[in-house]
Amino acid sequence: MSKLPDVTTSIFSVMTQLANKHNAINLSQGFPNFPVDKKLLEISGRLLGENIHQYTPMAGLPSLLEKIARLTLENYRRTINTETEVLITSGATQGIFTAINALVNKGEEVIILDPSYDSYEPSVLLAGGISVRISLQEDYAPDFNRIEASITSKTKMLVINNPHNPTGKTWTASDFDTLENIIEKHPQLIILSDEVYEYISFLHPHISLHTRPTLSARAVIVSSFGKSLHVTGWKVGYLIAPENLMVEIKKAHQFLVFSVNSFSQHVISEYLDVVDFDAIAKMYRQKRDLFRDLVRDSRFELLPCEGTYFQVVSYANISSQDDIGFSQELITQHGVAAIPISVFHKEATDRRMLRFCFAKTDETLIAAAEKLSRI
Ligand code: PMP
Ligand code: GLN
Repeated sequence: MSKLPDVTTSIFSVMTQLANKHNAINLSQGFPNFPVDKKLLEISGRLLGENIHQYTPMAGLPSLLEKIARLTLENYRRTINTETEVLITSGATQGIFTAINALVNKGEEVIILDPSYDSYEPSVLLAGGISVRISLQEDYAPDFNRIEASITSKTKMLVINNPHNPTGKTWTASDFDTLENIIEKHPQLIILSDEVYEYISFLHPHISLHTRPTLSARAVIVSSFGKSLHVTGWKVGYLIAPENLMVEIKKAHQFLVFSVNSFSQHVISEYLDVVDFDAIAKMYRQKRDLFRDLVRDSRFELLPCEGTYFQVVSYANISSQDDIGFSQELITQHGVAAIPISVFHKEATDRRMLRFCFAKTDETLIAAAEKLSRI
């Protein structure tokens, strides 16, 4: 019997393949199509010939762990212990899977907020856990009444994602105040905080769980260098968690990958000394504004985009088709690929929404918007 009977090929692969087949502009899967920073390439070229191609220590290259500690201190005023509280993972995906499988026992419940990133639920199911999927509010803000009502004696974990994929919603300080109040009442509860878009926050500086000591003391916080440095294919991310949780996570990690690609870790470690995260944030703000300006007069309706490199639109004025059918038509008839939002929901939704990725060259965004404006 299949352990994941309802899982099919990820929507990101499906849409990218369809886009390639029909030669459509691919604004579906979330990855940049512009070149990586020349400084990163220069470091890569220089380090390639060095003697750095054997296993790193299991938890990660020590210099990279140090730089992550420095970033966490600079960005969020949190001091972490590099020996006990941080782990380099093969992308955020492996970090999420490993944390869930190390910490969730058979029969324990994990609350997931829909629309939710596609890897959370399968990770819970393979751990033998029970996923409890509850919807975000209409405007994609957390619905704390429903969250609280869903907590039982079996609830082990709450998964949150801020800035949020697919909707671009960000949590406010008051959301975190409310979460603190809820968490206080449930000492068995752990938080998995997926913050892979931490450097792409438009409305206000990113509010990380790192800045909330009562929450971070019970949290696994997930980051991704793939997202932050435009190297999604390198698959390097990291987890930060208190030692009692990290001990368990490392036990699982050593038998999933043991250690992560050494070359990428060396290059990223050096690159972190020169990378300009403010410039990255500024670039994404410009791309968001460009894409929104170009699409504003079309028949698509733009939803707010507070963070991430995704723009959600409603196509209710254009078609009454469901979003899977409409996104296929968009590729085959109009030459643009997007992601239908319904696939991130457990329960059927009749909201007609698509997600466009704007981590693309300006030329790509202009060409795509031109096609969208003709519909
Ligand atoms: N979480 C979210 C919310 C994502 O959008 C992604 C996709 N990048 C991941 C996790 C996985 O990240 P990675 O590519 O580093 O595995
Ligand atoms: N996170 C990326 C997105 O949301 C895709 C990652 C993947 O293809 N698995 O588009």
